[in-house]
Amino acid sequence: MTQSVNTESLSLEELSDAYERANRFHRVTEHLAGALTPQQVLDVILTEGLRAAEARAGAIGLVTDDGKAIELLAQSGYRGDVFEKYGRFSVDADLPMSHVARTGEPLFLESRAERNKLFPTLEGQGEDGHAIAVLPLALEGRLLGVIALSFGENMSFSEERRRMKVTLARQAAQALERARLYAAEQTARQRLAFMAEASELLSSSLDYEQTLKQVAQLAVPRLADWCAIDMVMPNGEIQRLAVAHEDPEKVRWAYELQERYPPDPDDPHGVAQVIRSGQPEFFPDLPEELLEELIGDDDELRRIVDELGLRASICVPLSARGRTLGALTLIAAEKHPVFDQADFELAVELARRAGIAVDNSRLFQEAEKGANAARALAYVADGVVLLDRAGFVRHWNPAVALIMGVDEEEALGLRVEAVVPAWDSLSSHVPLVRPGEAIGRPVTVPMVAQGRELWVSASGVDFGEGTVYALRDVTDERALEKTRSDFVATASHELRTPLAAIYGAVRTLRREDLELSAEDNATFLEIMEAESLRLAQIVDQILVAGQIDADAVDFDLETCDPVELAEGVLESAALHLPDGISLHIDKKGTRPIICDANKLRQVLVNLVDNAIKYSPEGGDVEIRLDAHNGECLIQIADEGLGIPSSERERIFEKFYRLDPHQTRGVGGTGLGLYICRELVERMNGRLEVESEPGKGSRFTVRLPAGV
Ligand code: ADP
Repeated sequence: MTQSVNTESLSLEELSDAYERANRFHRVTEHLAGALTPQQVLDVILTEGLRAAEARAGAIGLVTDDGKAIELLAQSGYRGDVFEKYGRFSVDADLPMSHVARTGEPLFLESRAERNKLFPTLEGQGEDGHAIAVLPLALEGRLLGVIALSFGENMSFSEERRRMKVTLARQAAQALERARLYAAEQTARQRLAFMAEASELLSSSLDYEQTLKQVAQLAVPRLADWCAIDMVMPNGEIQRLAVAHEDPEKVRWAYELQERYPPDPDDPHGVAQVIRSGQPEFFPDLPEELLEELIGDDDELRRIVDELGLRASICVPLSARGRTLGALTLIAAEKHPVFDQADFELAVELARRAGIAVDNSRLFQEAEKGANAARALAYVADGVVLLDRAGFVRHWNPAVALIMGVDEEEALGLRVEAVVPAWDSLSSHVPLVRPGEAIGRPVTVPMVAQGRELWVSASGVDFGEGTVYALRDVTDERALEKTRSDFVATASHELRTPLAAIYGAVRTLRREDLELSAEDNATFLEIMEAESLRLAQIVDQILVAGQIDADAVDFDLETCDPVELAEGVLESAALHLPDGISLHIDKKGTRPIICDANKLRQVLVNLVDNAIKYSPEGGDVEIRLDAHNGECLIQIADEGLGIPSSERERIFEKFYRLDPHQTRGVGGTGLGLYICRELVERMNGRLEVESEPGKGSRFTVRLPAGV
């Protein structure tokens, strides 16, 4: 800016002084234009600016945001600790700077006397000063602050001098504002960059603990000297997840400190309070009283707090969906400037995003857990039913669908009684326990589902919001148990019959009062032989069945001649053949087979035995040998009682026997066919039956043919 000077009335010396001033003034203007930061602007004003204004000392104060006070920003040339005395003073104070802030007009006082007249309270103060000029730092009618210039002597402020100072003040105001905007723009840019980086981090992984640690790391030193993140644990405890500081030594120390002074959930300030209330806490300037309150009488803590040099703090809640999950704390200590509103807003935004990230990650984990649980329930063999408090079905796994004969789609959302009408008869027997209590033995209850009679073993847990039942279909086990006990009864009976016969025969033979013919003797001995054989067979069957169950039967597979085997079996059968039975063999289509000869003999003996046993009216019993597609067939056919079609598979079950009235009371253990099928299958063959009740049965053994 060019200053016009009225040169007509000036002496040569005055003229050269004025030029010199104008030059200095230009330099100031140029340097101010080049100053980027507020500090650079202040430096230019207080060095070259003062020189250009011929002042000995100068001070710059800014009006605070609320317009009520002036805060001293910088000074040069004043003696003593000006900041201590005039660091901050009211706009209403009886001081030249306050006066200018109030009026917005420049104030030129050419002597100390003039100053004391206007500001009587200053009488006796700053006696080394003389003239002063106080100028508003204003921009477009807005007052930013005030600049005071003090001169070493009384001055007469010519029009030209006054104008120059006013202009200097205006340029200073512009430069300051520009630098302030520049700085604000820089910080905003940094904040945006930080937020972008933090957001990217937060969305980069579902491991929120790791991510939050990285965010804390990112925040120092850009946002604060310290950054800490605390989380609320499921048990309500507050746990520190991350502490970040530039110096790792300090981080270690902070953790130690945390251990020594764990946060009290009832603390009136800080993390605990923010988590409790869900409201942020912002101390742009940590009040001395607060620190005192925190420290109490603890000297050690005082030393620590002093060392920390806490100056400002921001603590904001991490929350999502109305729940506070933790808190983020930022602290300005040794390096970082105290926080302003923008820092606070940034922290709130950061915590908001972190809260959402934590929530998302937890939701994901929960969903995954839920999916895993559903997967487990889908495959578990036990039926699992979840009912809500009102008794509506909320979960119905495939196993329970199978047990009850009702699909999941038909059960979900309905009252359980509507799904399984007999539910009440089940649940009324199942004692419910609370979560954590020992689940007692499941109870086994009979019930009818879809017209089927079932035995269900059930237990239940009442977890407050509903009930979970675990069900298992034990119908088969029950049946097996029943067959087993039936077997014990049958086996005892079966053993007793031959035993009684032998006993009777022995008793008769020993009677002295009876004269027995040689023929009678032979008959009794025959009875004893036959019945002992029967006894041995029964005991054998029981033993072999046990061995099969224990997988302890050895097989010696070799090529053998089925004709030889079949003939041998028929020969022994012929020895005790009941009346009316005739034995035949048809060996037209025969081939050698691969088998264990002893085991196959056992099978054939059993089948021929059955054929004879279950032909109480007599008839033909025939063994037919045949070969087909690499298989050898041995068929045992009779013309006896036959087997109803519903029983044809079941007769191969262990201990299974037809009703005695269907077999005309013919005895047996129910083990024979079970053993036969097991043995044949272990020799890589199959055992099947065809039958027509009343007309007879045909059992077919298929075994691999030898070469
Ligand atoms: P059991 O010792 O009772 O004979 P099995 O296992 O050999 O035991 O036979 C099981 C059941 O199958 C028998 O109880 C009988 O009812 C039936 N069964 C077996 N073979 C025949 C057959 N040839 N004719 C009619 N029923 C038979």
